[in-house]
Amino acid sequence: METVEFVEAMTTGSQGCGTRLAQQLFRETFKYEAEGVWSSPGRVNVIGEHTDYNAGLCLPIALPHRTFLALRARQDDKVRLVSSFAPEQIELAELHGLQAGGVQGWAAYPVGVAWALRKAGFEQVGGFDAAFVSCVPVGSGLSSSAAMTCSTALALDDVYQLGYGSTDEGRLTLIDAAIRSENEMAGASTGGLDQSASMRCQSGHAIELDCKPGLSALQSVKQVPFDLLVHGLELLVLDTQAPHQLNDGQYAARRKSCEDAAATLGVDNLRVVADEVASASDSQQALDEVLGKLSDPTQRKRVRHVITEIARVGQFIDAFGVGDIDRAGQLLDASHDSLRDDYEVTVPELDIAVDVARLQGAYGARMTGGGFGGSIIALVKKGQSQLVAQEVAREFDRLGFRCPRALAAVASSSAEREV
Ligand code: ADP
Ligand code: MG
Repeated sequence: METVEFVEAMTTGSQGCGTRLAQQLFRETFKYEAEGVWSSPGRVNVIGEHTDYNAGLCLPIALPHRTFLALRARQDDKVRLVSSFAPEQIELAELHGLQAGGVQGWAAYPVGVAWALRKAGFEQVGGFDAAFVSCVPVGSGLSSSAAMTCSTALALDDVYQLGYGSTDEGRLTLIDAAIRSENEMAGASTGGLDQSASMRCQSGHAIELDCKPGLSALQSVKQVPFDLLVHGLELLVLDTQAPHQLNDGQYAARRKSCEDAAATLGVDNLRVVADEVASASDSQQALDEVLGKLSDPTQRKRVRHVITEIARVGQFIDAFGVGDIDRAGQLLDASHDSLRDDYEVTVPELDIAVDVARLQGAYGARMTGGGFGGSIIALVKKGQSQLVAQEVAREFDRLGFRCPRALAAVASSSAEREV
């Protein structure tokens, strides 16, 4: 049986390997020097899944794993891109006259950011040459796409002097462009959690992200201390490498089910009812009453997940904050069970990885990200990650699944300029 690989994070800073590799790829591809290197992290959502598009709460941390981007602005509206995943292949695009959906393949993500900024009125944003180097696993629910769009947004803000990248409030504008790029240029539906995490997380902290529309920067994010070592813990991320199944259609179906339920309940979004349930003297009874108004059993399950999951975010923050790790772990377990039974977005690889992690003594484990493949997290005692990962691999091997790969998740910093 294979030994589980732990994906290392590339080092940051002017001499860091991420920075140097991005500069080198830029130089070898375009035959001149980049004017700077920017980077933005992948993220892992600790709890609060499928809540962002319901105006709910979630609790992501930034991973130490980042996407590095060496870039130089151009005098025209052309874009030339290269990625370390296919270093021989240059992607070309033209910003002038570009329409939504007008760029195919991965180039849609960075080109879409420039397009979205121009649409937002920043007409000074022009073309650029860019080289991407990343250690964020792609398509694993760890937001390699947001790492790409957010690093691009920060770089364009910098080289075209928009002035939004240096403050948390300003970054809301860049986050909007990153979201719009994914939704409208890449055609990949996203609720905003990923981009906010990549742009707003601080080292040693998770963010309690409130996705209610129209909130200010101060209202939408609370920095929550998330120091695992203080509690003698590690957060193991295991990418199951399960093939994604019908991901897009299923995600859209879940969103629609929530929107339909909100319409039936006569509210703008499910957050409204989640708040009502949370503030009722008997929350269980209040939840039952809400569910009683929905005739479709599937819709009832979806709504039950969203309402209970939003509540679990606050409960987790409280438990973790007072060092009640057993309780925090139970909440992670409850989140997974709800995603499996009520929201129905897990696959056997996710359920089995979670089961094995729990059997191996994890305080709690859950799938993270959108589901239908991707990754799990397990909250384990310090020093246990390797063992838990290997036991999951053993079970995967027995069942004929691909070998998972692992990452050590430490709450890291958001997008920044490296050099
Ligand atoms: P996730 O964001 O969870 O990794 P997505 O499906 O949202 O998964 O985004 C993955 C897509 O993002 C890839 O298929 C590719 O198009 C693009 N992508 C992300 N990072 C890179 C990269 N470094 N180089 C090229 N494409 C990338
Ligand atoms: Mg993504």
